[in-house]
Amino acid sequence: MVELIRSTSELKVRRATLNTQKVGLVPTMGNLHRGHASLVQASVNRNEVTIVTIFVNPKQFGPNEDFHRYPRTLEDDLELLDRVSNGRPCLVYAPETTQDIYPDGFDTTISLGELSRPLCGKFRPGHFDGVATVVYRLFSITRPHSAYFGAKDFQQLAIIRRMVLDLDIPVEIISMPIIRDHDGLALSSRNQYLDKDDRQLALKLPSTLTLSAQLFKECHHNTTDRKLTNFIKESLADSQVEWQYLDILDASTLRPPSAATQEWVIAGAMKVGKTRLIDNITVQKK
Ligand code: AMP
Repeated sequence: MVELIRSTSELKVRRATLNTQKVGLVPTMGNLHRGHASLVQASVNRNEVTIVTIFVNPKQFGPNEDFHRYPRTLEDDLELLDRVSNGRPCLVYAPETTQDIYPDGFDTTISLGELSRPLCGKFRPGHFDGVATVVYRLFSITRPHSAYFGAKDFQQLAIIRRMVLDLDIPVEIISMPIIRDHDGLALSSRNQYLDKDDRQLALKLPSTLTLSAQLFKECHHNTTDRKLTNFIKESLADSQVEWQYLDILDASTLRPPSAATQEWVIAGAMKVGKTRLIDNITVQKK
């Protein structure tokens, strides 16, 4: 049972009627695919009411990024949510205007620390501050018991977890595994920018991460192993695609691994033509 809500004021009134019901939140930018659906499914299974937000957040796009051409497909999104929620209450907050989230005079930005510096943070200045600011506001408006995020955006997930801890926000953060297409490419709304040749090149992202993870395990998690470092160096030098990074970091601190590291994240970002793609694999200490 999908119910479309187009303004913050309407959402606040509706939220107040939910009383003690358990609420799960799934923040998205829309153009929903099976990756988003897995988050919604998890929320529907665990909560009495699920709130899905659909908002292409201008504050998380850089000036030369794809804010204007980002796919906006509300009708299709509502159909998908109708299928996935399968008769269970699902409120869809899709603000009609940007001002609904950022009214005139809006002047507050969450300023993140160290977790926002490596990986995507190096290439997208201000991106994570924009994400944290909108997610904080969505938490305030929807007051969820739990919120669902995909491990595909690994750094985003780490940042949100940290923000919730640091600002003592009463919400449980649930992480969901990466959903991939049949060829191994992680599902993303941006995949549709890829033509057939680009898509073939894009597969280098998951295949390189998989091979890196294999080598990393073979060399007993030694990031200075020659075979591993050579493989990473050669991969980054591939001129058919434009790698932004291919890093192995401590999964909880997002810093270079240390003797205390229990879990590693092997994360990569590449541009294929104009399309920027990210992906990651985690490896646990045995
Ligand atoms: P987005 O609409 O791209 O902002 O993504 C909304 C949420 O869906 C984020 O928590 C993403 O991590 C998650 N998500 C996007 N793609 C995938 C995927 N392929 N598998 C799992 N979660 C995903």
